[in-house]
Amino acid sequence: MITLTYQYKLKLNKQQAQEVERTLEVCRCVYNFALSERKHWLKSRKSPVNSCSIHSEYIIPANSPYPNYNNQAKKLTIAKKSNPNLKSVNAQVLQQTLKTLDKAFSDMKAKGYGFPRFKKQMKSFVFPAMLKNCLAKGKVKLPQLGWLKIKQSRDYPTGFEPKQARIVKKATGYYLMIAFQSQESCPDAPVGKVSLGLDAGIESFVATNTGELIKAPKFLLQAQSKLKLLQRRLKHKTKGSHNWLKLQKKIAKLHEKVANTRRDWHFKLANYLCDLTDNIFVEDINFISWSRGIVRKQSLDSGIGQFINEILPYVCWKRSKIYLKVNKDGTSQECSNCGNHTGKKQLSERIHNCQYCGYTAPRDVVSAEVIKNRGLIAVGQPVNQNACGDVLTGLLQSNLSELVKCL
Ligand SMILES: [Zn+2]
Repeated sequence: MITLTYQYKLKLNKQQAQEVERTLEVCRCVYNFALSERKHWLKSRKSPVNSCSIHSEYIIPANSPYPNYNNQAKKLTIAKKSNPNLKSVNAQVLQQTLKTLDKAFSDMKAKGYGFPRFKKQMKSFVFPAMLKNCLAKGKVKLPQLGWLKIKQSRDYPTGFEPKQARIVKKATGYYLMIAFQSQESCPDAPVGKVSLGLDAGIESFVATNTGELIKAPKFLLQAQSKLKLLQRRLKHKTKGSHNWLKLQKKIAKLHEKVANTRRDWHFKLANYLCDLTDNIFVEDINFISWSRGIVRKQSLDSGIGQFINEILPYVCWKRSKIYLKVNKDGTSQECSNCGNHTGKKQLSERIHNCQYCGYTAPRDVVSAEVIKNRGLIAVGQPVNQNACGDVLTGLLQSNLSELVKCL
């Protein structure tokens, strides 16, 4: 099954825009209500019987079940009968809002995300099912909202069925994201001859094993410094004042521009890398924990996680290239030429200098070579080239078994 998501800009008239705003607001209320219900339940279970607060305590009967998704969805159906506001919004949209909350709670447990917060504003909502014959040139038909005009920046994909639609509110207007699905399966790309190892760098954005150090472009950095300037200016404005709001809007627009520029550059870079090679290997890094650590600022600014985990695999898939993640442990501590362990490097140490074979190269490039070697083993190809292009000798082949262990 193949899923593609296309984004179109919506051209709403005043009435439609109001309807979208109202739906967003109802979704927000439902989300916040459901969240408070869960919060109260959890708090009511926390206080010990013998030492509860003398002022106030959450009391919910011991036999009342935890308000999980099913429970809350049932209550929503009942509430809709007496609340005209809830009734006026598509039922599936509201259920989807409850699901979003449910996912926030399960992500908290599974992925270690923070406790879900109340929303000051809702940015989007989803129609999980589409109507029949809902697509026409320049317009889309949605439940509750009817026909909406779009700016048809690209044709709908042929052979695909629209499955889901999401309306997103951004600083520059409303957008419609349609998920198209096709039942056809897509065969895995064959393993090609040329391979490329990528190291997500601190100094450079990515380093390749061919010695290329790719840095984030200047225009991206410029936009980011402009953003910081505006944010600093915001501090001096009175919160909520007319000028504050104006600046806030300006910042939101610039944020969107930076995100778009970055995304565009990521796609170009991914396509460029695909031009170079058949197989791409990357490190399996948890970018969330990474971005909390020492390299926080750089990694967030450049969006490296989004590039490695979302855009690059997508482009590789589209262009039938192999994309594979390999074990990240110790890629900077290993010599790519002889496979020996060279010990830990300080972050400031930018050059790899092997004490066993004397191989010298930039640190990130060596890491990329190690990643490439691990990737080749994972796809079952011989590691037949070292940095100089020589065929590995018997001694080096024996090191391969060590490499396999760390995969
Ligand atoms: Zn060496």
